[in-house]
Amino acid sequence: MIGNSFSLVLLSTNQCNAACDYCFEDKTAERLSLEHLRRILDKLMDYMDANQIDALSIHWQGGEAMLLPPQWYQQAFKLIRNAAETRGKRVDHGLQTNMLAYSSKWNPVIAEMFGNSISTSLDYPNLHRRVPGRDPESYTAIWERKVRMARAAGIDVKVISVVNQGTLEIGAERFWDYFVDELGVFDFQINTPFPGGETNEVKQGMTLDIEELARFHCELADIWLERGHGDDVRIGPFDELLNYFTHRDAFLPCIWGQNCADELVAIDARGNVAQCDCWVTSYPDFRFGNILECDSLTELLDKSEARRHFYERPIKLVQGDCIRCDYLALCHGGCPVRAYSVNRTLFEKDPYCHLYKTLFRHLENRAAQQLMGAR
Ligand code: SF4
Ligand code: SF4
Ligand code: SF4
Repeated sequence: MIGNSFSLVLLSTNQCNAACDYCFEDKTAERLSLEHLRRILDKLMDYMDANQIDALSIHWQGGEAMLLPPQWYQQAFKLIRNAAETRGKRVDHGLQTNMLAYSSKWNPVIAEMFGNSISTSLDYPNLHRRVPGRDPESYTAIWERKVRMARAAGIDVKVISVVNQGTLEIGAERFWDYFVDELGVFDFQINTPFPGGETNEVKQGMTLDIEELARFHCELADIWLERGHGDDVRIGPFDELLNYFTHRDAFLPCIWGQNCADELVAIDARGNVAQCDCWVTSYPDFRFGNILECDSLTELLDKSEARRHFYERPIKLVQGDCIRCDYLALCHGGCPVRAYSVNRTLFEKDPYCHLYKTLFRHLENRAAQQLMGAR
């Protein structure tokens, strides 16, 4: 994590007001106190000083981040701003929320702390996201109402959507219509499912046909290129892949980073430190340590055996077939948690390899057409 900036996934609580079937988090009741936040900040700023890092992006999430009240975030924001000013650092904030607890009381802090922008999640169709004891349709109805309220208040709402079997059955066209034309969402990201955390029947049945999944991605990318691209609709990861293949600056998702251990860490509401949100709550053996119990974050990270495995992964992967892949410099073997949740080892490539290769090739061709057309 040496460089000018780094990212922190910070779980303000390990609790959630939803009960999604595929949730990878081992949810507990803890909430982060302002006193613990102050102690975490001290160590983070020491770490940034030691590694000449000027800028920090904090991605607030849970559990469900909105289970702490807006006043708590206002106090946290002041605390962080003061600490950053004292140390000469820049800090920006993002909020990931399921929106179930959203009300207009949140608007001032969303404007002040999060730049009037939030990120939320919904799959379409929704098969697995639910409020406890109720069906997915009830969740979707609440979520749609809250999204419309937030948009009416001028808040920019980004959506993360995990593809499921129903998504493949309705197809890319209907998926686009729902998010863009019906809900007016202009910035969304497509994610692939993985059976993280404790297993259950839903997670065991989440495997998708990889050819169908690849076809869905390519068709959605084509719809975006034809209808949305010029109208400023953003769909991750297509937008950044197109940037990459047209030789523009590209901010690719962590799954294709050189090594995600260089880019971010996660800290949960108990102070546990791990690679990202799934690891920190659900795989205790892969935690790097606890920031509230250590003297120095630098030392905690340097001494962590679990973290060393993340650094060994790229070396192990090039001993396999990734070394012969045309897209190795782009993909780097994919996401460790997707590999681990399927194969119980970090030292395997991402199980979505075939999807990635197909999508890379498709967007590389579309980018080449664009470049030719521009001549
Ligand atoms: S997936 Fe997110 S919203 Fe759903 S239960 Fe898990 S933490 Fe809560
Ligand atoms: S394990 Fe996967 S999801 Fe987590 S930070 Fe690394 S690449 Fe991202
Ligand atoms: S696309 Fe597949 S083979 Fe190529 S680098 Fe990624 S995981 Fe490895």
